[in-house]
Amino acid sequence: MISGRLRNTEYVINLKALRNNIQAQRAVMPAGSRVLAVVKANAYGHGLVPVAQAALRAGATGMCVAILDEALELRDSGVDAITLVLGITPVEEANVAAEAGVSLTVGSLEWLTKYHQFARQFNWTKPLKVHLAVDTGMGRIGFTNVAEFQQAATLLRQYPEFEFEGMFTHFATADSADSTYFDRQYARWQQFTNSLTELPPYVHMANSATGLWHRSQITANTIRMGISMFGYNPSGKELPVDLDLQPVGTLKTAICFIKKLAAGESVSYGATYTAAKDEWLATVPIGYADGYPRCMTGFKVLVDGQYCPIAGRVCMDQMMIRLPKYYPVDTPVILMGKSGDRVITAEDMAEQAHTINYEILTNFNNRIHRTYHD
Ligand SMILES: *Cc1c(COP(=O)(O)O)cnc(C)c1O
Repeated sequence: MISGRLRNTEYVINLKALRNNIQAQRAVMPAGSRVLAVVKANAYGHGLVPVAQAALRAGATGMCVAILDEALELRDSGVDAITLVLGITPVEEANVAAEAGVSLTVGSLEWLTKYHQFARQFNWTKPLKVHLAVDTGMGRIGFTNVAEFQQAATLLRQYPEFEFEGMFTHFATADSADSTYFDRQYARWQQFTNSLTELPPYVHMANSATGLWHRSQITANTIRMGISMFGYNPSGKELPVDLDLQPVGTLKTAICFIKKLAAGESVSYGATYTAAKDEWLATVPIGYADGYPRCMTGFKVLVDGQYCPIAGRVCMDQMMIRLPKYYPVDTPVILMGKSGDRVITAEDMAEQAHTINYEILTNFNNRIHRTYHD
C-alpha cells in the first residue's frame, strides 16, 4: 500500500482530542455507560487500528465496523475487544466471523435459517455472536415485524450455533430540530424491547446525534459513537453541541514550488484563473486523488494564519494557491484545521462541496500519510 510518507502532505491525528471526546460523552451518561467506537471506513478516514486502540485506551468497550473485512483487520492487529459488523454479511462468509469472535448484525429470519443450515452442513461449531437489527424507520436493514423478531430471538437462544449478544436500531433524524420522527422510531423501538422477557447483554440505539440531542432516552446506556468521537457535529452547522468536542484531524501540506505570476497569466486546467496583477502563486502536493475534492476549487487554505484562495482547478495530485507575499518552499499549509487564530473546519469544507462533514472526512485516503500524536 502506498503510504505517502515521502511527500510533505500529512493528516495529523490528535489522539488526545479523541480521548477528550469519548470522555466528554461518557461524563454526561450514567456511570457504567458503554461506548462502542464506530471505526468503519478506516475510522472515518483517521486510520482504523490506531483509532481503535486509542478508543479502547480512552474507555470504549468495543468497536463497530461496517464490513467483516474491517473487523478482521482489527483482529489481525491484535484488537480483540467486542467488534460488531453493522452491515449484512453474506451467510457464506459468516463462519469467518464466528471463528474470529466477531459479532454480526442479522436482520432477517432467512439469514438465521440459512446460517443454521450451513453450520450443520459444514460443521461450523464456534457459536456466532449475533446482534439483531430492528428497523424502526431508517428503512435500511432489520426486522420490522415484532413477531418475526421474537422468533429470531427464540432461534438464537435455542441453537448452540448462536450467541444472542445484542439488539439495536438506528435513527434517521436524531440530528434534526424536529423530534417527531425520532419519537415515532423510539416508540417503535420500545415495542421491540418490550417484546422480549429477557434482553440480550447489548441493547443499543444511540448514534452520535442521539448521544448529543436525545441523551436521556438512551437505552441500556450504550452509544455507538461515530462522528462525535472525531470531534465533529453530526448536524453539520444546524444544531449546537453542548459538549466540548475537539476535531481530531488536521490536514496539512507544505509549499513545494513558488513563483511569481505576471498579471494576465493563468494557472491550472482550463486556465480558469488569471492573475489580476503580479501575484505570488504556490503549488502544494495534494489533489482530488488524495480525497481533497475537486469541487474545492474556489475554496481556501491557511498559510501563516491567513486565508489564501485556491487558484484555478484542483488537479489530481497538486493545486495552486495565491499568497499575499513570498513564502519559501516547505512553508506549512493547513487545508483543514487551525493556523494562528484562523480555522477551516470539515463543516466549512462540506459547505463548499455541497455535502456533509462525514463525506469530507471519509474521502481522505491512504495516499495521505497519517501521523499520531498523544
Ligand atoms: C455509521 C453508524 C453509526 C455512527 O454514526 P455517527 O452519526 O457517526 O455517530 C452508528 N450506528 C450505525 C448503525 C451506523 O451505521
